[in-house]
Amino acid sequence: MNFHDDIWLILLSLTASGFAMYITLGFISHLYRTTSRYKSVLLGVYSFAIGSGLWAILFINLLIFHDNLSLTIFSADMLAAWFVALIIGLTLCFVTSKKVVVLSNLILGGALIGIGSYAMFYFALAGLNEINHVSSTVALITFEPLSLLLAISVACIASVISLAIIAWIKDFSGENKPFIKLIFSVITGITILAIHAIFNTSIMLKTAQAAQPFVSTFADKTMLALVITLGLVCLFLLAFVIALYYEKFGVSNLMARKNNPDAANTGFKDPLTQLPNRRAFQHELQTAVKRSARASNTIALAYIDLDHFKPINDNFGHHVGDAVLFSVAQRLNAAVRVCDSVARIGGDEFVALIDEIKSDADIIPIVERIVQSIKEPFLIQGQQIDISCSVGIAVYPRDGDIDKLMVCADAAMYKAKESGKNQFRFFDSEIESASDQMLEMQRDLRLAIENNEFSLVFQPKIHCKTQSPVGAEALIRWNHPTKGVILPIDFIPAAERFGLINQINDWVVTEGCRAIYRAREAGTNLNISINLARQQFRNPNLVDEILQLRKRYKIPAKNLMFEIKETTAIRNEEQFKQLLRQFKAADIKVALDDFGSHQFSLSYLQHLNIDEIKLDKVFIGQINENKTSRSLVDAVIRLAHALDLNVVAEGVETKAQHDALVDLNCDHMQGYLFSAPIPEEKLLKLFQQLSINFKSTGQFSVSDYQTEAA
Ligand code: C2E
Ligand code: CA
Ligand code: CA
Repeated sequence: MNFHDDIWLILLSLTASGFAMYITLGFISHLYRTTSRYKSVLLGVYSFAIGSGLWAILFINLLIFHDNLSLTIFSADMLAAWFVALIIGLTLCFVTSKKVVVLSNLILGGALIGIGSYAMFYFALAGLNEINHVSSTVALITFEPLSLLLAISVACIASVISLAIIAWIKDFSGENKPFIKLIFSVITGITILAIHAIFNTSIMLKTAQAAQPFVSTFADKTMLALVITLGLVCLFLLAFVIALYYEKFGVSNLMARKNNPDAANTGFKDPLTQLPNRRAFQHELQTAVKRSARASNTIALAYIDLDHFKPINDNFGHHVGDAVLFSVAQRLNAAVRVCDSVARIGGDEFVALIDEIKSDADIIPIVERIVQSIKEPFLIQGQQIDISCSVGIAVYPRDGDIDKLMVCADAAMYKAKESGKNQFRFFDSEIESASDQMLEMQRDLRLAIENNEFSLVFQPKIHCKTQSPVGAEALIRWNHPTKGVILPIDFIPAAERFGLINQINDWVVTEGCRAIYRAREAGTNLNISINLARQQFRNPNLVDEILQLRKRYKIPAKNLMFEIKETTAIRNEEQFKQLLRQFKAADIKVALDDFGSHQFSLSYLQHLNIDEIKLDKVFIGQINENKTSRSLVDAVIRLAHALDLNVVAEGVETKAQHDALVDLNCDHMQGYLFSAPIPEEKLLKLFQQLSINFKSTGQFSVSDYQTEAA
């Protein structure tokens, strides 16, 4: 070798090795994270690219060390060198992309690669030298035993270290990752060259007079090396293209897979996302807990719930919702380490088992990655979809035993949602007491349904101008055996969460209808408004059930109205509109409740087939304090009247508010000024007394309500 002549070759060799290592790191990360079912194909492609790359680099290095070599790439020795290189590539990919890289694998793999490298070197050199020596190549190469031992030892040690670093980098997620990858690639380039140089010192070649140099001039050598490098770049690009193809292929197969789930898979796998299902996860959790008890380390359970997922199904259709869930699964898998596992346990609920951790600090980067990865927009069928997730984390054994872990993580997730979503929350003592209360609430609510502990109270609705009673709103109360009367705000959200609300609401609707029936039996024509909960939207039989009740209790359509909160309507717009169409067809009346409590749009009103709007109490409370409120109420009433809607003011507490509403031409009102919600008998008595008074005085008065309802 002539250093001056070969400096370009050396630089080329370093660049080629550095490049190859940089790309290799990418390959390994990809192998580690991919959820493609073609993982073994990818492993093959990458091993092939890496092995062939090593072979090409060795070739360049040999050109540096030996001036008088002859060449046949397709000689048996050359093919043998290539074959060994492929085994090295496979070993590297196999060992480093594993979920858990254990020391024994590193050592075995490193030794295999070290010895393999030497074998490869030997075959390549023999191959390069062979053409003019028909006789055995062995005769041409003699070993220097001590240097041979040294060379192989150095190669093995360097390989073990490199494997360890590659395995570490694939899962590293710090800021400086590209920089670290670059440095490592450069060092690898130098190491490979150095090792080849050491290999070179361990042999003696008898080539001097015999060989007819195939490439001898500087220009020839550089040219050849450049061609090899170019070939190497092409090879790696090709590997990339193949990998991309398989990744994509995995995705486009989604539908086929979903419709034809692998029979053997269905028991433990979620057919849509291919993730383990709840059952499989329970299994995995048990194993992890046992393992962690043996190794006395800690595991964490992250409960991941998507924020704002339901509207995606409603607004874009289920196929888009499914595609989002599939992508979510892939992103979650990519966000966790390979020793962790992700499962889908419900519609938009996932869990991640974070294994082998020492402290909370180990968990945080992983859950941060989870939250961040879901926050990135999803592009599904050309539509951008933005969601986020809330994550609750419970740690074993700190937060409880295996049975409690899921409940704790769920409670922490709920807290994360409450605190504004798109974040994670660790389980703590505050959540613990809240979740204990929740458990108690759940148990009590089930008992309440069983033992019929609910009742309805009724708040009269009054005609603004005449002050005559026009009906009543039915409001639920829970008569708890030990805690007394519980208001809906303190149990409706819990009932919704535990999926008990439908049973409760069915009871409310039935009971409301019976109240109308009983009032008529007692001689009073009563109009009742019933509040509909969010979940009732999803009940496809709702209209039929209402019609049946109306029929059973012989209730005229005008006697029964349903209130739906404005926010619920807006959040479930499509379903709401559909429900309105069904209601219209069945002649069921609808009021938009709490109108104006949130952002609202007046123009929105004209597209809705509703009968009434109920102005939120916040508006009414400010009607005399604040000119804007008064003007707004004025505008809403005018528009509503233009659209032929009835306007009810809620939360009327003072005479001044009452007067203002009369001025503004409001239709009906309800509030403490007249009466708080009262039991059925009291309501009927009130209405009867009012009509008696009316007969004698010819008018209704506020004071009559106050004395009778009190
Ligand atoms: P909402 O539908 O807006 O009901 C009106 C609430 O305002 C009632 O509270 C009522 O007692 C209260 N209220 C009445 N007059 C006044 C007043 O002058 N000033 C003030 N500050 N408040 C007044 P309640 O009964 O505690 O109900 C709260 C919420 O719980 C209701 O709000 C409704 O959203 C829900 N809810 C009640 N009953 C049911 C039910 O049977 N089913 C469903 N799904 N939700 C219900
Ligand atoms: Ca209401
Ligand atoms: Ca309301």
